[in-house]
Amino acid sequence: MEKKLFQAESKRLLEMMIHSIYSNKEIFLRELISNSSDAIDKIYYRALTDDALTFNQDDYYIKLSIDKENRKLKVEDTGIGMTKEELEENLGTIAQSGSLAFKNENELKDGHDIIGQFGVGFYSAFMVADQVTVISKALGSEEAYKWKSSGADGYTIEPTTKETVGTEIILTIKENTEEENYDEFLEEYRIQSIIKKYSDFIRYPIKMDVTESKLKEGTEDEYEEVKEEKTLNSMVPIWRKNKSELTDEDYENFYAEKRYGFDKPLAHIHTSVDGAIRYNAILYIPEKMPFDYYSKEFEKGLELYSSGVLIMEKCPELLPDYFSFVKGMVDSEDLSLNISREILQQDRQLKRIANNIEKKIKSELQSMLKNDREKYETFYEAFGRQLKFGVYSDYGMHKDVLQDLLMFSSSKENKLVTLDEYVSRMPEEQKYIYYASGDSIARIEKLPQTEVLREKGYEILYFTEDVDEFAIKMLMNYKEKEFRSVASGDLGLEDQDQKEKEASEETEENKELFKALKEILSGKVKDVRASKRLRSHPVCLSTDGEITIEMEKILQAMPDNQNVQAEKILEINTNHEVFQSLKSAFETDKDKLNLYTNLLYNQALLIEGLPVQDPVEFTNDICKVMV
Ligand code: ADP
Repeated sequence: MEKKLFQAESKRLLEMMIHSIYSNKEIFLRELISNSSDAIDKIYYRALTDDALTFNQDDYYIKLSIDKENRKLKVEDTGIGMTKEELEENLGTIAQSGSLAFKNENELKDGHDIIGQFGVGFYSAFMVADQVTVISKALGSEEAYKWKSSGADGYTIEPTTKETVGTEIILTIKENTEEENYDEFLEEYRIQSIIKKYSDFIRYPIKMDVTESKLKEGTEDEYEEVKEEKTLNSMVPIWRKNKSELTDEDYENFYAEKRYGFDKPLAHIHTSVDGAIRYNAILYIPEKMPFDYYSKEFEKGLELYSSGVLIMEKCPELLPDYFSFVKGMVDSEDLSLNISREILQQDRQLKRIANNIEKKIKSELQSMLKNDREKYETFYEAFGRQLKFGVYSDYGMHKDVLQDLLMFSSSKENKLVTLDEYVSRMPEEQKYIYYASGDSIARIEKLPQTEVLREKGYEILYFTEDVDEFAIKMLMNYKEKEFRSVASGDLGLEDQDQKEKEASEETEENKELFKALKEILSGKVKDVRASKRLRSHPVCLSTDGEITIEMEKILQAMPDNQNVQAEKILEINTNHEVFQSLKSAFETDKDKLNLYTNLLYNQALLIEGLPVQDPVEFTNDICKVMV
């Protein structure tokens, strides 16, 4: 017999399970049944596609047995089984390794978070059992192995005998404690109800010998207790059922049972299409972003079934990238079982299904937005970013699908608004949809460039995510209204001409001064001008051309930084006292002019959240002004 140690992370997870105060301990059974069902799926699929294997339907089942006296609960399946290596690999290491690294000690304490966010599969057995034995014989293998662990630090593995291919999991159920009742997991009625609740839709029979009271033969009122094998689940896959028969809870259980996510989905879509192409689908909009959503590991896709048989766990062709957060399954009788990945990519039937699904998801999101704003905002917090990427990607090809689903914070109310809401409350004379970009709302609210628009009472959209401005550039306009950055040269204001005249008069009047300022800042800004938008602030930066300062920041941070620069303009508020100081310095003291100009320029950079090129010089300059 070999004794092995658990991998460090698995050990921690196990300890958490053993000491778990998680109240929903019954889910261990759902996890084990899911594993068994997956294992049978694998062998069943093999048998259907490999002529060398012949099995009949009756060969596939899951069987539960209770031995109350010895506190044993057994889950047995006729699935694909595990080799010695697979036992070690699958049960000695946690599946989503690395997931624990995301959480700190505190969050890990009671295991609540782990179970809630990642699920724990097989290890959840340790919530109710103090010893777990797994006996398994893999398909195509002669030997069988016994894996045994009582949690702690390791497990043993040894050869054993087992007639048939498949796996048996034997739990030794914990003794009751003051707080917890474990005996219930040795009660037939309790096990039956757990199966009904979580695993009713499993495609294979889940059998158990159930005690029934029966009339004794030859008597009229004498009963005896007999054991009879009963199938506990209805076995009709949920997607074949009528929507009207199903409750929200059924859909939620299916979501959990399938491990689509460990959150509670915000919405589900159940659709049955019976036309040129026939299929059933159940789709979910999750509530929370999976922890690996924006990592390389994340794979989008839906489960694909052909007449009830799982042929692919994640079929990416069924979902566009911008809806990659959607989970669920599609079952179609029009797809061949033997279809290969390559053929699938070009399959016309599949493309049609994918098109239909895209429309369904869009209309579900639209109706959520219309009818349940709060829910939609929860969704948007989690996945809004993905929709914006969708607008931006493929040269804006999908913008029509997505633009009405976008939301942004705005200066009007402290909440998200849609573009439609913005446009429908624009005053008649307002020409553009205004936006301001920055690291945070608090920062944007203080931007000097927004002063003139605020004064007019125009609403400003706040862009705080790096993708925002790029998405909007791709959108170009919404309902024929163009987007305009508050920092752009032309804000299209009605009294613009007047302001412009004043500003250019100021510039003209102080022509020599502005020329000198421009020289001092040469190489740093393209121009220095009298501002027509500043009210209380002395300076700000604006930009000419397509690239705004926020875009410059993002482009500069990219791995393939091509040193793209915004064409910056330093705007000076000629009504501000500072301008008078500049004027007199220009006339009397060129060093002072230099000093003031650089200070103002650096201030403008700081307001924009841009780094000051030489911080030491900057602080020295401030000291010079102070003494
Ligand atoms: P998950 O199911 O999320 O991958 P588990 O810890 O529940 O994580 O299981 C780990 C792996 O062990 C499974 O992916 C599967 O390969 C294997 N496994 C678990 N139970 C069985 C079983 N009854 N039959 C065959 N393989 C199994």
